[in-house]
Amino acid sequence: MQETTTAPENDAALSFKQNEKIVYENNKLHKRLCRQVGQAIGDFNMIEDGDKVMVCLSGGKDSYALLDILMTLRERAPIKFDIVAVNLDQKQPNFPDHILPAYLKQLDIPFHIENQDTYSIVKRLIPEGKTTCSLCSRLRRGILYRVADELGANKIALGHHRDDIMETFFLNMFFGAKIKGMPPKLQSDDGKHIVIRPLAYVKEADTERYAQVKNFPIIPCDLCGSQENLQRKQIKGMLREWEKKFPGRVDNIFSSLSTVVPSHLMDKDLFGFADLKATGEAMANGDIAFDEEPCSTGSTSIPGIIPLRADN
Ligand code: SF4
Repeated sequence: MQETTTAPENDAALSFKQNEKIVYENNKLHKRLCRQVGQAIGDFNMIEDGDKVMVCLSGGKDSYALLDILMTLRERAPIKFDIVAVNLDQKQPNFPDHILPAYLKQLDIPFHIENQDTYSIVKRLIPEGKTTCSLCSRLRRGILYRVADELGANKIALGHHRDDIMETFFLNMFFGAKIKGMPPKLQSDDGKHIVIRPLAYVKEADTERYAQVKNFPIIPCDLCGSQENLQRKQIKGMLREWEKKFPGRVDNIFSSLSTVVPSHLMDKDLFGFADLKATGEAMANGDIAFDEEPCSTGSTSIPGIIPLRADN
């Protein structure tokens, strides 16, 4: 059988082109991450002049990406803020405690490793087979607040991204019967700090790819032996499936989180239904009382009743 071969110079030209494309895509990814993080910081006024931001590093892809992008933005920002990276070593079995200090040293930024054996506490208090995450994260939160105090940090930055926010939204709706997501900015339980989530607009797929591009020394997240929350896994699968079948649906869900119409929900504390009276004046922004049903087929509809096709 005759073998087909390509000239070495053709191979070289091809691989040069491929490399160029990879570099281009990687730059685009970096720019997108910087833009989205910058936008979230601006939209929610997350970081202000003179802030000291404690970036919580777990050793996972998201927190590495968060630290990396915040460092880039700090270089370019018109304001001055400090960053201190913190890792809480929870003494999980086989936790490679040399990885983060080595990584942070070469970044040449202030950092602190907090050693607290929450693993043993959780193991002691939670019966075998029960989920340990809720106690574990409560303990972790308390420790991080204290460390932020000790380090003089007024902001605590966490690496939750857009997918985390949407999954939490559906978890709360499906299992907690609440319309409640994961806020991009909130006051800590002790009232002393502001917790921020600068990756709020960033897709998980992007932090995943960025971690590969930057070759972050990822520490596996299953060292505690706890399975990833099954319900969260199911929600993740549901969203992935939706996006496959109806491209753009997940984007719409995410946008809807920042476009809330309290008068069209049923929370009596959020909207004063009881005191609602006809004023005799038309609404300035048109008829929103019976608004059109959104319809994916591009048809218009009689408000809330019969969908009308555009060709009817
Ligand atoms: S997965 Fe493990 S380390 Fe993470 S919150 Fe749950 S128990 Fe804690």
